[in-house]
Amino acid sequence: MTGYCGRFAPSPTGDLHFGSLVAALGSWLRARAAQGTWLVRIEDIDPPRAVPGSADSILRTLHACALEPDEPPLYQSTRAEAYSSALQRLRENGEVFPCWCSRSDLAARGGVHRGVCVSPPDPWREPAWRVRVGDTVIAFKDGLQGLQRWPLSLEGDFVVKRADGPFAYQLACAVDDAAQGITEVVRGADLLDSTPRQIHLMRLLELSEPKYLHLPVAVDAHGRKLSKSQGTAAVDPRDPLPVMRAALASLGIPRAVLRARMPRTLLRDAVAAFDPAALPRTRILEIPVLAD
Ligand code: GLU
Repeated sequence: MTGYCGRFAPSPTGDLHFGSLVAALGSWLRARAAQGTWLVRIEDIDPPRAVPGSADSILRTLHACALEPDEPPLYQSTRAEAYSSALQRLRENGEVFPCWCSRSDLAARGGVHRGVCVSPPDPWREPAWRVRVGDTVIAFKDGLQGLQRWPLSLEGDFVVKRADGPFAYQLACAVDDAAQGITEVVRGADLLDSTPRQIHLMRLLELSEPKYLHLPVAVDAHGRKLSKSQGTAAVDPRDPLPVMRAALASLGIPRAVLRARMPRTLLRDAVAAFDPAALPRTRILEIPVLAD
């Protein structure tokens, strides 16, 4: 093993589908090509959005695809203490403020929160906690999408703990990527705009920052993102080869090397042929016809 550590971090909101398989395979290929470690993290911090049984179904499908993590999966539902102490530190350093603004308060201000909360404190309701971003600009070089420069004021002061209880994805992801020692985050370009907020949190919390590589996001023939909830293009764990071949081909692996009849050997051949320079440098990718 080298110092490289990658991860796949699905939310349990449905079965593994073509789009998430591309992210899983992309992160796995980068880690294995670097002779590094590959981890899986189940992002189950948003109980209202979770679909019962989907974490197990995703793990079963990864197993059917021979995508085996090097450690048991980390469940974010077990990590509340770590997120609490991160929030505590942000509070002590004056980086966050309680916010009672409702959706309609925000809508009246263009949907973006800038500066202090204007809604009066309400002792009967828990507030959300937001990070004050001011005029911070985050620049980073994405491994595929090139140089990125994002003023955080575009998204405004963002939530790290929601009024209804759960910690927000941005905080949980930043804390866990650092805690798991991730050296490169490989995921879909639909999360490109989250990266500056996560880098900002890592800097405020003095955590080590990974590198980032954002893969194109799979869309259907109408240009719509394939969402897990649509249930389209779910990977069939009894017959994962056709969709694995299509996903690997979309990551630039020549079709000619994707002939193996077992997931494990298919992956072995794919990693031998993997060339990061062949990854498509786009933000969207039309889902291919799943030919065997
Ligand atoms: N859990 C997120 C999702 O399934 C991905 C998070 C990440 O890769 O950072 O969309």
